[in-house]
Parts: sequence; structure tokens; C-alpha cells
Amino acid sequence: MAMNSEQILARLIAFDTTSRQSNLALIDFVRNLLDDHAIESQLVTSEDGARANLYATVGPDDRGGVMLSGHTDVVPTTGQDWHSDPYQMKIGDELLTGRGACDMKGFIACALAALPDITAGALETPLHFAFSYDEEVGCVGARRLVDALAGFEVRPRLGIIGEPTSMQMVLGHKGKLSYRVTVSGFSCHSAYIDSGVNAVEYAAALIDFIRGMNQRAQAELTDPSYSVPHSTFHVGNVRGGTALNIVPRECEFEFEIRNLPQQDLHRLAHDIRHYADEVLLPDMRERHPAADIRFEETSHYPGLHTAPDAAIVRYTRGINPVDTLGDNVSFGTEAGLFDEIGIGCLVCGPGSIEQAHKPDEFIARDQLELCDRMLKNLIRSCRDGTKLG
Ligand SMILES: [Zn+2]
Repeated sequence: MAMNSEQILARLIAFDTTSRQSNLALIDFVRNLLDDHAIESQLVTSEDGARANLYATVGPDDRGGVMLSGHTDVVPTTGQDWHSDPYQMKIGDELLTGRGACDMKGFIACALAALPDITAGALETPLHFAFSYDEEVGCVGARRLVDALAGFEVRPRLGIIGEPTSMQMVLGHKGKLSYRVTVSGFSCHSAYIDSGVNAVEYAAALIDFIRGMNQRAQAELTDPSYSVPHSTFHVGNVRGGTALNIVPRECEFEFEIRNLPQQDLHRLAHDIRHYADEVLLPDMRERHPAADIRFEETSHYPGLHTAPDAAIVRYTRGINPVDTLGDNVSFGTEAGLFDEIGIGCLVCGPGSIEQAHKPDEFIARDQLELCDRMLKNLIRSCRDGTKLG
């Protein structure tokens, strides 16, 4: 007996796929389902092989089709007050509760529940599945998948990223770039500060510059379609120094940039590095040649800025029972990464981001139904070979 989307969702939720843990048990389950329908899949694994992206194509392999993309990892439940076992789906009259219900195993469940329909007849336009790992910790898995896809002769033309948008079509989100910065000075007794280089004070100068970037970014570009209408800069933690009477040798802090997708993320980062390298560092080195400021990129994903008349938007409008363009969102997705290799993307999936990452995360059953309906229409259009624009 084929499983419907709710039944598959219950199975997916039961795999604890918290980011950075292995997702292989879930991937195995998905692989077997695809196998049952004679669909070959390939894995693109993490370096240590403990996690995997799964990619599969149904239909002709000589042309690009429509990709359904979702991440298999979920955020931790640690410290959250759940009223039921997060890894055992609770079935209510209207809601299905469990970790990952809306973010975003619901979408993956719908995609898999459609397999019998997908394989019931030949497809003119291929369908692709792309299920990633470690999205929640900075789109780590999808990056490897995108690298692999970039080398394929044929890749998807269009992509629907099924993050929870209540099935509205979302065309934009910000990108993000984060760094760990280590400022190294020179230590000495605090009574003799002239012979030292105070790492905390130079870090503070750099942090203040980063803070000032908010005003500059705001003056440069605003986009009222975002609730925070400009690129933002933020320092999240700082550690430095050992004792008050010692000039601190080292100070470490982390910061992030969330850019409007119209604004070049690396250029914004460059301004900060430039200040560190050209203003702070020469001053530090004049006091001691061993002084240094090091930047280590800790995560990065590009924003998404899809035009309202783009092929993916026209196409999705033709299959989605919810014909609503949603507001740009503040959360990031893998869409920008796929978009960078020429796969036109939008974000559209069942459930609401309001419930994501929270205790008692749920998805409304009628959201799954809407997604099932969209996929039914999608399959029909793939059968008919509807133009992808
Ligand atoms: Zn998500």
C-alpha cells in the first residue's frame, strides 16, 4: 500500500535528523521509497560520509526539468518545552505535531507521496528531487550538492524550495555571511601599556566600525519589501583578555552580515576587512610586528531576488492552488545557491514559518493537502511537457 503524505511525514519525523548529526537513516528510507518506484538516486555526502544529500531525476535525462528541493535536517529540541515526543508525530484533528513538521519534512513528505502518481505514466519534462543536509547551520550540505550539480551536463531548469510559506510564492530573502575574527596584539603589564598592543581595544574599534556599517548600508540602499529594509551587521559574541592588569594579547568575536540580495555581500564584507587591514593593522604593527587580525568565514549563503515575471514564477502560478505572492522573508534558504548555477528558484511550501524552530512545531493538515494538490498539477504539467519559459 502506498503511503500518503501524512503517513510519510510520520516516518520522516521519527528520524532524529538534528543538524550535524547523521541523516543517513532518513536518506536510506527515502532511497528505498525511490527504489520501490524504480527511480535511481545518487548521494553527495559530507566529507566524513556521515551525512548525505540525495539527488534523483525522474523522466528524460537529456533536458532540465523542475526540481523539488528540501532540507532533511531539523533544529534541536534541547531546552524546548514540548508537550509530546517531538520525534513521534502527534495527529490532531487539524494539526500534525512533531519536530520538522513544517520545517520542512512536510514538503518532502508530499514530494514522496506523489511518487505513485509521478511514475504512473511517462513524463515529457523531468522532475528532480534534491534533499540536503545541514541547511539549518548555514546551507552546508546544499553547497556540496550545488558543486556536484554544476558539473552535470543536464541540470534542473527551475526549482521550488519547499520551506514553509503557507504555500505562498516567496521571491526574495536576504543572504548571509558570517565570520570569526581573531585580533592578536602583544601582552605586557598594564602599567606599561606603551609597550603592548591591546587586542581588546583594537577589536572594539573594529566592532564599532561594523556597527557603523548599519548606517552606511541604510544610506546606500533600502528595500521596503523587507521588514528590516536594509542590509544589517551584527556582532554576536566577544571574548578577550585575562586580567585587568594585563594588556590583552588576544580577542575573538563573531559577526554576521545579512544583505539585501541587490547588494553585493562580499563587497560589504570587503569594506570591513579593508578597515582592519589598512587602518587598524598598520597602527598595531607599528607597536609590535607580530600583531594580526584574522578573518575566518564560518557560514555563507546568497540571497534570493527572483523577478515577478521570471519563468519559475509564471510556472508555479500555473500549478499552485494558492495564487499569492508572499512578502520577502527574513529567513534564508538554499534557493540563492541553486539560483547561482542558473536554476530559477522561488520558495513555496506547506506550513508556516511561525511554527518553525519552536516547541510543539506543527503543520496544518490542510497545508499538506494544498501541497499535494500543487504537486498533482505539477505532475500533469510534466506529463504534458508544459513549457518551462
Ligand atoms: Zn527550513
